[in-house]
Amino acid sequence: MKALRYEGQNKVVFTELPVPVVSDGEVLVAVEVCGLCGSDILKIDSDLKGRDVPLGHEVAGRIELVGPGVKGFKVGDRVVVAHHVPCGDCHYCRKSSPSMCREFKQTNLDPGGFAEYVRVSARHVENVMFKLPTKVQYSQGALTEPLACVLRNIRRVDLREGDTAVVVGLGFIGLLTTLALMKKGVTVVGLDTDPARVKQASKLGLEHGYTGRENRTEAVISQLTTGRGADVLIVTAGPASLIPSRLTWVRDGGIVNLFAGFAKQPPAQLDLDQLYHREISVLTSYSPALEDLKEAHRMIVAGEVDLSPFTKSTFPLDGLDEALRQVRGRETVKAMIIPRKYGAAH
Ligand SMILES: [Zn+2]
Ligand SMILES: [Zn+2]
Repeated sequence: MKALRYEGQNKVVFTELPVPVVSDGEVLVAVEVCGLCGSDILKIDSDLKGRDVPLGHEVAGRIELVGPGVKGFKVGDRVVVAHHVPCGDCHYCRKSSPSMCREFKQTNLDPGGFAEYVRVSARHVENVMFKLPTKVQYSQGALTEPLACVLRNIRRVDLREGDTAVVVGLGFIGLLTTLALMKKGVTVVGLDTDPARVKQASKLGLEHGYTGRENRTEAVISQLTTGRGADVLIVTAGPASLIPSRLTWVRDGGIVNLFAGFAKQPPAQLDLDQLYHREISVLTSYSPALEDLKEAHRMIVAGEVDLSPFTKSTFPLDGLDEALRQVRGRETVKAMIIPRKYGAAH
């Protein structure tokens, strides 16, 4: 089968790999769509040579083969599958930190979603694989995992109807967060330095979108919250150095929520005395729990979120370079790889 393989910093090769062999409880999925995640790009940008670096984890496809003993799934089923499975009974899992479970990151799809086929382990089949009805496109189903990341984050910071959140960064994760919050009845103030991103957010229904250059953000937040400040500041992108000055946007007792990595950035200096006296918490969320995957899948199947704005930029398996170029150049907010398509002139 054809697949993409990481071979070093900015070196991903389009190559031939053996189709994985499935054993007891496992299934083989023919991958129809796999989203390109920011974390894939981060890995591609990093020098991880010599390590096994699976790429692609936002997978939707069709079951090609089932191993002995598989229950509840059959050949031909349309499915989505996540890449990590927590063990469910270690200290981390019991303390609601399943994404910190030591088994979590060690589990993966074989060889990763940027391949014509993936082997799905028995633990994945039992815990993180869901059926996709024919009315839901594979490309929307493939966004189950990123939506689950967003839902888990919102759950962590306990945002509810009537609350106010500031979302910094209106890339894919910022937009998805904005959509999910609006669906919940949370008032969102969205910020992105790129006017095109703000415009896109407005098209998706964001009422209060700014580039920050208007110098109106603080006044708008104040007005929307009768002077209190936002319940949560959700940082999905942007320089870490700006976070300290944004504490004034957060209400007393509110939350600074880090929902992005800050690789290669110098540490930000937060005013700890202010955090203490104003009881502001710093909360982060890295990856979803099983309940969030279930909820994301339910919402997508029920058509409660329209993910179609994110599924339009598709690329063949040998078109990763172009996908990377468009994402890095902010020409597209989300790239979807079609692994079973390649070899065409593009
Ligand atoms: Zn991801
Ligand atoms: Zn665990």
